[in-house]
Amino acid sequence: MAEGSGLRILITNDDSIHAPGLRVLEQIARALSDDVWVVAPESDQSGAGHSLTLRRPLRLRRVSRRHVAVDGTPTDCVLLGLQHVLDRPADLVLSGVNLGANLGEDVTYSGTVAAAMEATLLGVRAIALSQAADRRSRPRWSIAARFAPAIIQRLLEAGWPEGVFINVNFPDCTAARVRGVAVTRQGRRKVGDHLVEGRDPRGEPYVWIGGLRGAEEAGSGTDLAAVQAGWVSVTPIQLDMTHHRSLETLKRCFGAGYLENR
Ligand code: MN
Repeated sequence: MAEGSGLRILITNDDSIHAPGLRVLEQIARALSDDVWVVAPESDQSGAGHSLTLRRPLRLRRVSRRHVAVDGTPTDCVLLGLQHVLDRPADLVLSGVNLGANLGEDVTYSGTVAAAMEATLLGVRAIALSQAADRRSRPRWSIAARFAPAIIQRLLEAGWPEGVFINVNFPDCTAARVRGVAVTRQGRRKVGDHLVEGRDPRGEPYVWIGGLRGAEEAGSGTDLAAVQAGWVSVTPIQLDMTHHRSLETLKRCFGAGYLENR
């Protein structure tokens, strides 16, 4: 498969060019193609969301011919990767493998997911990949490494619509306990972050945004429930955030010349 597949893959992440998960993703990509390019942030951009650097220039550091570090966000990396670094278009953008799951509302904060969003906006198929992990023990990169190539291959064969990307999360369990692939919807758990108040060494007060608190029970069919139960979660996400069911209600509400200029 690898040799001469013709598939050009751009990989990036939000954990930085130094992250172990990026090396795992490079292995995964190399199982699919020998034409793999890496454009990733110089520093950890977790939580950067879909931010774009506009108020300063970006610097590129060429680590090797196919490895470039950018002192910007994951979105900057995809934009520069696709439109500046590569001499011809990529067929696929892979982002990750993130240290920690990107489930439920995480997708709105995640730089890993935002990189897939940016590729989608630029018309390139994209998959975000995250490895669920418990901060108290070592990340199980072997789970993503083992299951990702076949899942990506299958996704590419099946295809998905324009304006959509795929969010994949690997469970934090041993390979023997992985139950399979579950196609899921985006769940929801956020009810508030834990805010830690303190004083800095100069005595000035600060507030530090800590972990999520009060996580609710994950709903059935969601990405959250699947990963908790040991499934690899595969969620199609659309960039069109219009809530279509509300369109008719709002049209009625503002219909019949409401505030119309005569
Ligand atoms: Mn991250």
